[in-house]
Amino acid sequence: MKIVIAGSGAMGLRFGLLLKRGGNDVTLIDGWDKNIAAVRKSGVKADIDGQTLSAKMPIYKQDEVAQKITNADLIIVFTKSMALDSMLTSIKPVIGTNTYILCLLNGLGHEEVLEKYVAEDHIIMGVTMNAASMPAPGETKFDGNGQTELQCLSASGQQEVQKVVDVFNESKIDSVYSDNVLYSIWRKACVNGVVNSVCALLEGTTVDFGHAKNADAITRTIVDEFADVAEREGIYLDRKEVVEHVESTWTMDHYPSMYQDLVVNHRPTEIDYINGAVWRKGQKYGVATPYCACITNLIHAKEGMLNVK
Ligand code: NAD
Repeated sequence: MKIVIAGSGAMGLRFGLLLKRGGNDVTLIDGWDKNIAAVRKSGVKADIDGQTLSAKMPIYKQDEVAQKITNADLIIVFTKSMALDSMLTSIKPVIGTNTYILCLLNGLGHEEVLEKYVAEDHIIMGVTMNAASMPAPGETKFDGNGQTELQCLSASGQQEVQKVVDVFNESKIDSVYSDNVLYSIWRKACVNGVVNSVCALLEGTTVDFGHAKNADAITRTIVDEFADVAEREGIYLDRKEVVEHVESTWTMDHYPSMYQDLVVNHRPTEIDYINGAVWRKGQKYGVATPYCACITNLIHAKEGMLNVK
């Protein structure tokens, strides 16, 4: 399969390496010069439980792609949420009439961006439990393994998307065709909307937050806000199960990615696509989301204090 990875950070490099080793024609696209230079020099390197794997594959800067690649079978977007639209605009020449776009970004509402570029039956929404970090440009570290769920936004695309699921499994990316991927996306967004944003604000690990006296009450309130808004979009979260799912992460002794982005690397966060999206959608539907509004504002205040650009 002719696959383009649009956004080749921790996750893009992880998926790119596995798909290349699985025998696919993989091309990377990115906007970070140091990353492009490192991949061109030494290929993509991966640290998988202390073992190093590598693979050579082409990588282009966004503004170079028009002359280099046409008509991909599949584009996997792996930018941060706020860069999705501009990435797709800059790689428009790569999107042919038969190109499918798969979105595995965290956060809510990305399908509305993808609809500007391809028809519903060529949009694949997904959620992945795989995790990765980026120790250096051109390098990805596998931080955790889990299943990836994919579903075409339109039922008419199911057969073609099943082929993508098969390609993933052949490339050792454990995947299934989902019957309700939007539910899974909202369920994962609840984890990010509680643990990621609160740990970034409190500057603590997931375990630290779990030990806080009021952690359970905070979790229930945020999950309720997500669930109230999701219901307006026809997604009925099982609130009790989602709270248990969020709280099950409290045994993982790590600083979640929003903490890493904001506090360690002073990079912009995806808050507007997590708690911020729930706040925005809540305003549209007339649903009160005071915790999500407050958390979004506090994260933005902290971005300002840390001079994040
Ligand atoms: P990432 O930050 O590693 O990469 C995103 C982009 O930022 C890439 O273009 C990368 O080249 C660039 N970048 C990375 N570090 C940079 C730096 N220091 N300076 C300049 N540019 C830099 O993002 P990611 O972790 O691959 O996440 C991509 C999407 O996938 C996000 O929506 C994220 O929420 C989601 N996601 C991530 C994980 C994870 O474990 N990392 C898991 C599931 C979903």
